[in-house]
Amino acid sequence: LGKALNSALKKLARSSTVDEATIKEVVRDIQRALIQADVNVRLVLQLTKTIEKRALEEKAPAGASKKEHIIQIVYEELTKFLGKEARPLEIREKPTVLLTVGIQGSGKTTSVAKLARHLQKRGYKVGLVCSDTWRPGAYYQLKQLVEPFGIEVFGDPNEKDAVRLAREGVEYFKNKGVDVIIVDSAGRHKDESGLIEEMKQISEAIKPHEVILVIDGTIGQQAYNQALAFKEATPIGSIIVTKLDGSAKGGGALSAVAATGAPIKFIGVGERIDDLEPFDPKRFVSRLLGMGDIEGLLQKLEELQKEREFKEEDVEKFLKGKFNLKDMYAQLEAMGKMGPLKQILQMIPGLGYSLPEDAVKVGEEKLNRYRVIMDSMTEEELEHPEIINYSRIKRIARGSGTSVKEVRELLNQYNQMKKMFKGMDKRKLSKMAKKF
Ligand code: GDP
Ligand code: MG
Repeated sequence: LGKALNSALKKLARSSTVDEATIKEVVRDIQRALIQADVNVRLVLQLTKTIEKRALEEKAPAGASKKEHIIQIVYEELTKFLGKEARPLEIREKPTVLLTVGIQGSGKTTSVAKLARHLQKRGYKVGLVCSDTWRPGAYYQLKQLVEPFGIEVFGDPNEKDAVRLAREGVEYFKNKGVDVIIVDSAGRHKDESGLIEEMKQISEAIKPHEVILVIDGTIGQQAYNQALAFKEATPIGSIIVTKLDGSAKGGGALSAVAATGAPIKFIGVGERIDDLEPFDPKRFVSRLLGMGDIEGLLQKLEELQKEREFKEEDVEKFLKGKFNLKDMYAQLEAMGKMGPLKQILQMIPGLGYSLPEDAVKVGEEKLNRYRVIMDSMTEEELEHPEIINYSRIKRIARGSGTSVKEVRELLNQYNQMKKMFKGMDKRKLSKMAKKF
């Protein structure tokens, strides 16, 4: 899924113009990628419709190109699609009791071990209870997984009563003063109703702070019904979607679960004990799109803005179309002071290769050339560049010892920047300007 989405955006970045046809093509590529990842078709259509509508109707924010803006929209909508905010597991009380449920083979026992290790790394003392009386060796499976880390497992391979085991196990660890108790259940049922019945029984016996549903990510969009049934049966709960490593259907499972509004708190990404990740839609989507670290980028941009010598009255002036060659020079000079601008721009999703290079990046050398050319212009030409016709260009080139080509280049850059200002959203820009 990541690959397909990434290549859709790369195609966008490579295209020379961004018009309606380009936007529609990107949207179609995204559609195809999501449907191949087993995402529900109705959800895909909803999502891509929003992306298309926003891409066509909204203007790019100040300083951003249309391409960047589209990438930003795709990022934002995909993030919302997967639940928007991260919902971390919180340990508020001591001891906090967690109960895992899920169909057999979904990855409960593995996830219990992973979660125990995750919490242990954060400084919590964890006790595990095996209440799986169904699978022979369930107790030993769990014990073996966590033994290297000194995490204790309560269980009895000969006991037949799962509810009793759960209750005794929780009691045992309460007396031992652990911070978190996690109960692993059998989940032998193949359908949701049986699953929920079991959850209710054990739940009543041990009164967990949170019930954790473990869902196999390889089932794709079928995860919707499982998550929904669970969510309707209980107000508390979090979800772990497992086996997202290498599964082509991972996108389907994640979006299906997110569509129910149930909180995905972790994802399983492998068979090893450390292969558990707190689920953060933002980070997940960034990685999916191959965008790097968005948060880091935003922070950098903020710092960058502080350095920029941009004045509010300038901005107002530019927006009114009063942007002349002198203004351009001042702006380019100010941008030059921002340091490795190029490097920073490259951190912006897709921007590294999507921005018309000449519109923003002007090296020291070129800036000097511009100065030389502008020295050969009249005051009138500097303030009203539109009067510069071919015979004036020839005169300026001769006078400055440059070429017609170079003068034209300067004027092209000017026109690009002027257009850039014209395309900016006035409200957003003046809000931005106030920050400078
Ligand atoms: P349970 O019956 O729900 O307790 O499921 P188990 O924890 O016993 O896991 C069933 C199988 O899925 C085992 O072979 C696990 O190693 C495997 N498994 C669990 N989580 C993951 C995961 O995130 N990635 C992969 N590749 N395999 C997993
Ligand atoms: Mg198990």
